[in-house]
Amino acid sequence: MSTIFSKIIAKEIPADIVYEDELALAFRDIAPQAPVHILIIPKKEIPTANDVADGDEATLGRLFTVAAKIARDEGIAENGYRLIVNCNEHGGQEVFHLHMHLLGGRRLGPMLARKLASEDG
Ligand code: 5GP
Repeated sequence: MSTIFSKIIAKEIPADIVYEDELALAFRDIAPQAPVHILIIPKKEIPTANDVADGDEATLGRLFTVAAKIARDEGIAENGYRLIVNCNEHGGQEVFHLHMHLLGGRRLGPMLARKLASEDG
């Protein structure tokens, strides 16, 4: 099923696009969690990381080369950054069009929030 990201790819709704090619699109997250927070998405509709297939390898590899280019362009490559792909409920995925978060511009802290006792299981 199509998501809001398909509408951004089709330019039916606005986004602050920072990069585009035949396989991938990158735009600033609407609710940034770091000074640089960019979403890099395949133009192909792949709902989650569970849905990737052998034929998607070139597309998914492109997400990394685009991330590296944008990190350089944004001036965060040397200090470093974090790339995140969330999958389904436990991963906290909200938009079911596979996407890579590029986060940087400050120290990002530990990779995961400390687990709460109430989250056991
Ligand atoms: P997820 O939780 O699925 O990994 O991340 C989805 C991300 O998409 C969130 O960080 C959210 O702020 C962002 N997002 C959701 N809707 C829009 C939108 O319409 N435009 C933009 N630019 N970002 C969006």
